[in-house]
Parts: sequence; C-alpha cells; structure tokens
Amino acid sequence: MDAGGGNSLPLSSVGDVAKRRVCYFYEPEVGNYYYGQGHPMKPHRIRMTHALLQAYGLLDRMRVLRPSPLPECDLCRFHADDYITFLRSATPDKVSDAHVLRRFNVCDDCPVFYGLFEFCQTYAGASVGAAKELNSGRANIAINWSGGLHHAKRSEASGFCYVNDIVLAILKLLEIHDRILYVDIDIHHGDGVEEAFYLTDRVMTVSFHKFGDYFPGTGDIRDIGYDNGKHYSLNVPLDEGIDDESYHYLFKPIIAKVMEVFKPAAVVLQCGADSLSGDRLGCFNLSVKGHAECVKYMRSFNVPMLLLGGGGYTLRNVARCWCYETAVALGVEVEENMPDHEYIGYFAPEFNVNAAPSNMENKNSRKSLDDIRAKILDNILKLQHAPSVQFQEHPTYMELDEEVEDMDDKKDDCNYDRDYWPES
Ligand SMILES: [Zn+2]
Repeated sequence: MDAGGGNSLPLSSVGDVAKRRVCYFYEPEVGNYYYGQGHPMKPHRIRMTHALLQAYGLLDRMRVLRPSPLPECDLCRFHADDYITFLRSATPDKVSDAHVLRRFNVCDDCPVFYGLFEFCQTYAGASVGAAKELNSGRANIAINWSGGLHHAKRSEASGFCYVNDIVLAILKLLEIHDRILYVDIDIHHGDGVEEAFYLTDRVMTVSFHKFGDYFPGTGDIRDIGYDNGKHYSLNVPLDEGIDDESYHYLFKPIIAKVMEVFKPAAVVLQCGADSLSGDRLGCFNLSVKGHAECVKYMRSFNVPMLLLGGGGYTLRNVARCWCYETAVALGVEVEENMPDHEYIGYFAPEFNVNAAPSNMENKNSRKSLDDIRAKILDNILKLQHAPSVQFQEHPTYMELDEEVEDMDDKKDDCNYDRDYWPES
C-alpha cells in the first residue's frame, strides 16, 4: 500500500510521491446529523468515508484531530449577527415566523433540523482548525471532509449550506498569508466564496462548474471580479457529461497559469464529489481517479493546502472519492479492492475504490473547451499585466486572537474587530 518507495498512483501525471505532513479533522458525532427524510444531503457519508479510511489503515498515517465547535463570535467574522442568532435558536419544534424563515432562506433545501447549530459549529470549527494547523506549520495538508459548504451567504442559507466554513477558513489563512487561492471542483458554482471575496485581490477564486439552467445559476465566464478584485475571480462553465480528459484539458493549464501568476501562499481546494459520474444530483462524468487527479495536481505545487468536502449525493461514491483523495494527500497507493468494514455493503457488487465513468454523452465539444481555455488564460494574462499589487501589513487583530480562543462564546463578549475584511 505504501507508494513511498516509488510506485505512484495509476493516474500519476506529476510523479510526486514526496511525503507531506497531513492532519485530518473528524467529529465522531457528525454522521448522526440528519437533514430529514428524502433530503439528499446526508452527513452519514462523512462517517462512511472515515470508516473506509480506517479500514485502509490511512488513519495511522496522519494526525487525526477532533474539531472544537467554532464559537459564535468566530462565525460572525463573516456572518451577520442576527442570522447566527437565528441559527442558534432555531429548532424543528419551534415554529418560526414565515417571514424570518424566508429572510434567512431556511426552507426545504435548507431545513431546520435537530442539532443544526451544533452541526454548523462542528464543520466550521474543523475548517478553521485545519487552517490553524496550516498557519502553524504543523501540517502541509489539512483535511476536513465535513466542510466545503460553499453556497452559504453572509445572512442566508443556500443549497444545503448554512455557514460558510470556507470563507471562515480563508479569513484565518489571511491572518498570516498575503494571497490565498480557492479552487472549487464541485459541480455547482462556488458562489458564496466568490461573492465574499469578489472585491479583493488577496483571494483568487477559481470555480469549475456546470453552467446553464443549473443551481445556483451564477458563475458566468464573464464574471471576473470587481474593483480591486477585477480578474481575481475565474469561472469555468462546463456542460453535462464532461469526462476526465476534457476536465483536465482545462483544469491543468488553468491552474498551472494561476499558480505561476498569482503565487498563492496557501491553497484551499473544495472537493465536492457531486461532479463524479452517477451522482444523484450531478450530471458530470468524472471517475474517482479523474476527480482525485485535481488533488494530486494541486499537491504537486507543494504549497500548504486545505482539502474540504462539499456536495456529493451518491454516498458510496463520495466515500470512495474522499478516501482515495486522502490517500493522494498522503502520497500512498491504495488497493483497488476494498477491505472489509462496517459499510462494505454499500459498495456492492464491485467493492472497489474507484468509480468508473459511464457511457453518457459528453456535451462539451473540443471547440467549446478550446474557447473556454483561451478566454480564461486571457483573463489570467490580464491579471499578470495588472500593476503589481501593494499588500498591506497583516491585520492587527492577530494579537487579539488568543483572547478570543479563551472567551466563552457569548457573542456580547466578542471584543475584536468583527468588521475586518481583507483590503487589497
Ligand atoms: Zn454541489
């Protein structure tokens, strides 16, 4: 199983098997949260992933950390106070005012369920904790498969997401780094993260997603950022049925150019697994190995990296994907045949870790891919030719951060600058 001796993963294009210090956040209770009957978002997939990691022996190869719930005042670094107060007090038993539910977009997609606020604090606590591990240098790669909830807005739930752990983690990384790159390979546009950093040049967002008559509807190739953030948002719109080869025909040259020009100090990769073939809500045709090739490629740049989950609604494929991607992060090879474990029944009849693509039609023509590639590379070139960016000193609240750690989480006790936002 150990590829450290030189055997890289089958889909190797980079040939990088050097070890990284990896830490992995997992809350044993996370699989018990339940969005409700028939809801496609099932936190149980995180528990399935964990069981598979354990069965493959991968937990022994990294530091496994239990997240601390993120205090309310830390959630309010991005989210509005009244929205967080609402999330804290909402329970399925208490009928909230329809007007309030509408205002915060709490609805069928984003229902109030038992333990909702705790769930939010847990997955956000894991992402921010992971960012801290990277900041301290204790880890080169930090993983939180329960995070990556990229649709949540400042005052609004959206697309099964309530709090935006990605934005919160990026804010944590910005405390010590000038430039952060966010890459999103979920099938849906990473709208919440893009919106949060649309006006700044300190965070570059790159989202690869299905575009056209598809949730959330944003992510047009012409949306490139605004003001100081102009050219620092990239949107790669794709059509149904995209396969591994077509995906990487875009992903690799775009990412290579972004890394060369933007030179991020850290990378956040949202690994939404709904871009896999056969997803319950998705319509792409990526194999697990094709999806994981994105992780492998990003890893090859040897920049501190935060790996997050996201969408993914065919549970067995989500677990396969994130297990395989953990192995990629560790630089080890896993057997195709799965070891026996608690959830092995989900993987019948193949019982293998890869999920192969189907024979569905790829609606992305070579010409459309070439057009997109040219447009995006042209956008990056404009960024390259922009006047060089003057970066400010790090924000001063870093000194206050220790106080925040020790405080109890009553929001009235929050005494640091919650209005902080990265300036150019
Ligand atoms: Zn998604």
